[in-house]
Amino acid sequence: QKITIAIDGFSSTGKSTIAKQLAKHLGYIYVDTGAMYRAVTYYAMKYDFINATHFDVVGLVSKLHDIVVYFKLNQETGSADVYLNGENIEQAIRTLEVSNFVSQVAAIPEVRYQLVKQQQKMGAKKGIVMDGRDIGTVVFPEAELKIFMTASAETRATRRFNELINKGEVVTYTDVLHNIEERDFLDSNREDSPLRKAADAIEIDNSNLTIAQQFQEIVKLAEA
Ligand code: C5P
Repeated sequence: QKITIAIDGFSSTGKSTIAKQLAKHLGYIYVDTGAMYRAVTYYAMKYDFINATHFDVVGLVSKLHDIVVYFKLNQETGSADVYLNGENIEQAIRTLEVSNFVSQVAAIPEVRYQLVKQQQKMGAKKGIVMDGRDIGTVVFPEAELKIFMTASAETRATRRFNELINKGEVVTYTDVLHNIEERDFLDSNREDSPLRKAADAIEIDNSNLTIAQQFQEIVKLAEA
């Protein structure tokens, strides 16, 4: 019997790595909701609704009907890439620049409303692993298995720093740590904060766990 699995938690806790592996193991669909918020942010940056000095929320919201975000399987990597209006933006949304703006865009209620609706449609049929911030609380409060992943900010910054460096981005560890702390703050200190642990979620602090150890633990829960 297939179920719905919600994986929530702070930035760079390795949610997507585990969620992807889990979906593959179970033969489920995997949806990275962070990629959807990043895609809208990419659009906002591309059309200059947001930059370092201004943020035109009304303008961006008026264009929401024009922003079509979807996933398509990449045959080469075997996982899904995110698309915006026909453009593959899988690489473009992973930059520190997008990370620096995404929490502001994700705070717009109209953006959340539209993406949550789309996520609920994607998961209408069971057999899905979805990762994000509000999956267990807002998108699928009825999910049979909810995981909440945490790790220290330093552990997460080290992981993200290595990822970005490996991709050839020019960043400093301090900038990455700062971005993570900033996003933690923005994501968890709003009135309607998306980042809350659901009462029935199982918390896993993976600061000192390998990916294999986490995977084992979560598979056990999923197959229980
Ligand atoms: O998971 P990832 O780090 O790619 O998410 C990027 C940002 O998107 C988060 O920092 C958060 O601001 C936003 N987000 C959200 N709700 C989700 C997923 C992501 O607000 N379900």
